[in-house]
Amino acid sequence: MRVLAGARSDIGRARERNEDAYLVKEPLFAVADGMGGHRGGDVASSLALEILGAGEEGEERQPVLLTSGIKKANQRVLERAEADRDLRGMGTTLTAIVAEDARAHVAHVGDSRAYLLREGNALQQLTEDHTLVQRMVREGRLSPEEAGTHPQRSVLTRALGVEEEIAVDELTLDVHAGDRLLLCTDGLTSMVGRDRIQQILEGERDPQAACDRLIDAANRAGGEDNITVIVLDFLKDEAARDPAATVITREAGPAETHAEPVEHIPLEGRPAPSEERTSGISQPQRRRRWGRVALRIGVAVAVLAAALAAGVNYIDRQWYVGDADGRVAIYRGIPSEILGFDLSHVEVSTELSTAQAQRLQPWQDLSDGITAGSLEAARAIVAQIRRDLQSPPGASP
Ligand code: MN
Repeated sequence: MRVLAGARSDIGRARERNEDAYLVKEPLFAVADGMGGHRGGDVASSLALEILGAGEEGEERQPVLLTSGIKKANQRVLERAEADRDLRGMGTTLTAIVAEDARAHVAHVGDSRAYLLREGNALQQLTEDHTLVQRMVREGRLSPEEAGTHPQRSVLTRALGVEEEIAVDELTLDVHAGDRLLLCTDGLTSMVGRDRIQQILEGERDPQAACDRLIDAANRAGGEDNITVIVLDFLKDEAARDPAATVITREAGPAETHAEPVEHIPLEGRPAPSEERTSGISQPQRRRRWGRVALRIGVAVAVLAAALAAGVNYIDRQWYVGDADGRVAIYRGIPSEILGFDLSHVEVSTELSTAQAQRLQPWQDLSDGITAGSLEAARAIVAQIRRDLQSPPGASP
């Protein structure tokens, strides 16, 4: 089977930067949607794809290596974030496909999606978003329609760059000649409904032109986020194809599943794809800072409370640095106090003044809470605040 690929990334109409990235390195294709303060989102998405694409020629054909490549990318994003304070808190989604003759291996973390369009079938979503709303849908607490328009629909439960251990969902499907696969970031799916996406994919034969039309549709709908799409056509061997080169680019720029079941392949003791790990990362709108995110959780708190009721304990595994009575403190939990639930408590108090810290640019959102992957990470943030208060960044020595 030959693969003919089109790909494009666009900044959209509302963002100052494009933090999405894509990789086309046949037979490996991937999209990533970065997040994090300053230039963090850009770095996280491109670094992750660079690492993923760095495998030996042919190596990435093996699904096991696809997953280990994503785990390696996770490790490298974490390391880079630790090494550079401007990049602290960065993370990225990653959804990748390896085409292997008549099969396609899909692996993903986060809410960038893969879809299959097969003649005579509705567009089938192959990936399940790692988001709180998706969890609620699975538990029957939200309808897919409600999830699609939920203001907190982009709060992620998994992303690269957050924890050392990362669970990667994967599946393998048999592809037929004529199948078309779509990889995309949420900048497409949050703006364009599935039926419209299907209509565009069915109405445009050329994969690159199909990408262009999908991006145009997202921009016409508002373009509120960066938009990245890859369209892959699976063709009989004799069919023509473009030579594909490695590209990691950013240009100037919800749905149920039907159709045929796909095969989920859990590997070596990892949780099966349905056993979602809960790291409770928040990622609304991928704003500049994850901390700011926290205050916007609002309705998601209800989601979290319900998840708690369901016995999920991820809140206790979350940490953030925030304000406690005017002083910088490390909290365990998530920064919210809605619904009468205390979803966090102070674990470590300090004598550092929140007001003074917030006068320094890197910490201006401190009172919103700065999420940390662990107690150690939270301590490192406090240590940095302490250093900054002693010698403010940008000040002359
Ligand atoms: Mn996005």
